[in-house]
Amino acid sequence: EKLTGEDILQRVKELNVRFIRLQFTDIFGVLKNVAITTKELEKALDGELMFDGSSIHGFVRIEESDMYLRPDPSTFAIFPWRPADGAVARLICDVYNPDGTPFAGCPRGALKKVLAEAEAMGYTMYAGPEAEFFLFHTDGRKPTLETHDQAGYFDLSPVDLGEDARRDMVLALEAMGFEIEASHHEVAPGQHEIDFKYDNALATADKIATFKFVVRTIAQRHGLHATFMPKPIAGINGSGMHTHQSLFKDGQNAFYDPGDPLQLSQTAYYYIGGLMHHARAMAAVTNPTVNSYKRLVPGFEAPVYIAWSPRNRSPLIRVPAKRGASTRIELRNPDPACNPYLALAVMLKAGLDGIKKQIQPPAPVERNIYEMTAAERRDLGIGSLPGDLKEALDELSRDKVIREALGDHIYERFVEAKEKEWDEYRVQVHRWEVEQYLTMF
Ligand code: GLN
Ligand code: MG
Ligand code: MG
Ligand code: MG
Repeated sequence: EKLTGEDILQRVKELNVRFIRLQFTDIFGVLKNVAITTKELEKALDGELMFDGSSIHGFVRIEESDMYLRPDPSTFAIFPWRPADGAVARLICDVYNPDGTPFAGCPRGALKKVLAEAEAMGYTMYAGPEAEFFLFHTDGRKPTLETHDQAGYFDLSPVDLGEDARRDMVLALEAMGFEIEASHHEVAPGQHEIDFKYDNALATADKIATFKFVVRTIAQRHGLHATFMPKPIAGINGSGMHTHQSLFKDGQNAFYDPGDPLQLSQTAYYYIGGLMHHARAMAAVTNPTVNSYKRLVPGFEAPVYIAWSPRNRSPLIRVPAKRGASTRIELRNPDPACNPYLALAVMLKAGLDGIKKQIQPPAPVERNIYEMTAAERRDLGIGSLPGDLKEALDELSRDKVIREALGDHIYERFVEAKEKEWDEYRVQVHRWEVEQYLTMF
């Protein structure tokens, strides 16, 4: 639905909206808010609302901190958990410089740039995520690592707190315009997944950012803590965000070719080739935390090796069985700690690079890669995703294409922050080390 500024003013009046939150994300994908009253809305809709960007991660230094927010009217949504009388609405914004040019540090702007590149090639990207998360108890103030399905007290209760919370999340998301396709308990205790319908890449990025915020908010109202941390507990499954992707050209699915043995088009093969070629550098963005790499290990349904398969679920890239307009590829390494705008920007960029440079993917792998020896993998040319954040950052520094998707401003600030994160982690003495070495030496 394409809404204009006029429509928004109209709705705000009809729905008795009192407060508007102007939202955007920092480079880490953390949603930021500027709350305004409806009186200031007209000014905001004209892009005349200034804010100080100096304390936002990855934005700017003090001396150049004036930023302007330009709300995207199509993102208008009411927070359904707030009272209907004096409602609260939100608008997602693009960030602009005082001179009216798009701000280079705006992740939504970075995605828009890659989308424009796709558009120039005749493509529209569609994407659909499967975001997983854990629901943990709080101790009254701070979150714990105890899950509702394991906490002794609740074992006796016929009511599953987590399922209750999840149902309310689905209702809140639907009230905000999401089409929920599935919602279920995941493999690990306390782990859940809610899937919403695919949409164009920009709308999907907006929805992922909104989704995380809604899930956390509703969990909190149930006295639970929702976390999108990729691997909160060692030894059980982590949380991924498998991302389904397709390109459309002239209204047709550009990945579908009924004449091909797998019914995949040459474009689809090149897109897969591009994703595989850039997978190691992209990981710094799709798996952006120290903790992300604790998930990408064998044994927990998360990918480790760079391979694709039309059937098998273990590789990095899977092609779900649906064909025709639903033909798509599923990239399985992204995790929900990523910035959705930047993650979609680098995935699309990698796919487009595959198309431009005609990168043919290797043969699909039907065998279980986890049962292969290192020598077998080497003979088949199967590489691995980075083993840790540092390795991923080093790969990113060598990949011009992926860096271009971020742009210099975001790339430099992202790497600076992530190197710092890595260095802080690197000097810690882990509990494992103490248990392993304290008595041994
Ligand atoms: N949790 C698994 C992961 O880390 C995925 C499990 C699944 O959805 N099959 O990616
Ligand atoms: Mg799923
Ligand atoms: Mg899942
Ligand atoms: Mg999946």
